[in-house]
Amino acid sequence: MRAGTSRIITKKGRITNKKGYFGKFGGMFAPETLMPALTEVEAAYKNFRADDHWQSEYQRLLESYNGRATPLYEAVNLSSKITDGKSRIFLKREDLNHTGAHKITNALGQALLARFMGKERLIAETGAGQHGVATATVAALLGMSCDIYMGTVDMERQKPNVFRMNLLGARVIPVDSGGKTLKDAVNEAIRDWTKSVKSTHYAFGSVLGPHPFPAIVRDFQSIIGKECRKQILKAAGRLPDEVIACVGGGSNAIGIFSAFLKDKIVKLTGVEAGGKGLHGVNHAVRLTPSPYAKPGVLHGTYSYVLQDHDSQIADTHSVSAGLDYSGVGPQHAHLFDTGRVTYTYATDEEAVNAFKLLCETEGIIPALESSHAVAYALKHVPALKAGSIVVVNLSGRGDKDIYSVAKFMGTDIL
Ligand SMILES: *Cc1c(COP(=O)(O)O)cnc(C)c1O
Repeated sequence: MRAGTSRIITKKGRITNKKGYFGKFGGMFAPETLMPALTEVEAAYKNFRADDHWQSEYQRLLESYNGRATPLYEAVNLSSKITDGKSRIFLKREDLNHTGAHKITNALGQALLARFMGKERLIAETGAGQHGVATATVAALLGMSCDIYMGTVDMERQKPNVFRMNLLGARVIPVDSGGKTLKDAVNEAIRDWTKSVKSTHYAFGSVLGPHPFPAIVRDFQSIIGKECRKQILKAAGRLPDEVIACVGGGSNAIGIFSAFLKDKIVKLTGVEAGGKGLHGVNHAVRLTPSPYAKPGVLHGTYSYVLQDHDSQIADTHSVSAGLDYSGVGPQHAHLFDTGRVTYTYATDEEAVNAFKLLCETEGIIPALESSHAVAYALKHVPALKAGSIVVVNLSGRGDKDIYSVAKFMGTDIL
């Protein structure tokens, strides 16, 4: 044991130390074999952040490859439709990033960090395939080898993304254990990493996992908030009254919230996947009190986790794959407990209706994940006082979701 860190052995034999906590949440719950790797990433990341050459390379690629800064667009048609133009709704257009969502901003940062550490190989987990595609993309860009762990159930559901990853030169490794979905893919990716740390970096896809990942992913995504703050001040002359974002693991939400956390006058609202409603666990709502949302350790971090009556990790449901996860980033757990961020949810049906309305009013096909944030805005903004200014983070585009939406509507388009 290194000096200066106190370690705690948990009931399940995992080890944590006092680093990386947000209030009582977070930490480094990892097998002993991973501790040196996590410490290495933490130290390297500090140097990477202070290195002008690598930071300007990141900036250059964010602009010329990713398409940053993404625009802040005022959705005038939508405001007219739902508030008679009394309030102003702005959309932060993360859907215009290369590969169609905010995820590439983190994937690019992590790939450069891996290169900075001298690693040649990237591994990642993926559920719907979005993070896998983003990671495979940056691996191709930087000439790295890339293995993506994916549950066989998800591979079947997301064939186009499996093909995309293959086209980009990545290997998709099928995971046939447990429920054969995201949770199991993470387990396998962690297992790989314990054996391959010398050559390999594990690029977490959201503000999840053991410290330092929740902080690293947040820092990379915080550019969303930095851009947005400047853009709204320019467009509206003042800070917004409210910023709204959907919460899966929580990276697009933390990314935009981070620039406003200190501005107590700005209300921050995170929207989770309400699925079929809050009876049972046909949803992924971790931050609205229920008998299923309990603090616990999942994939290296202590946070709110959906669990059944026997404290087993519960299977979740959402029409949007990106929000369909039993855990949530530890910083969100803390922001929930302290009350700085308000958390709510939108159901599958509300999200699909919001998806359709944004298509029709603005000519924008939003990701189903982002549609949850839009759905809450539709319910909530008409009740705000006239002259209110609201920003919705549009985390991704919805081209990937047209099959799910068609299925939800009872149409078959294949
Ligand atoms: C993955 C994804 C999400 C959910 O992830 P967060 O870490 O919560 O941001 C949200 N929107 C889109 C478009 C995604 O691809």
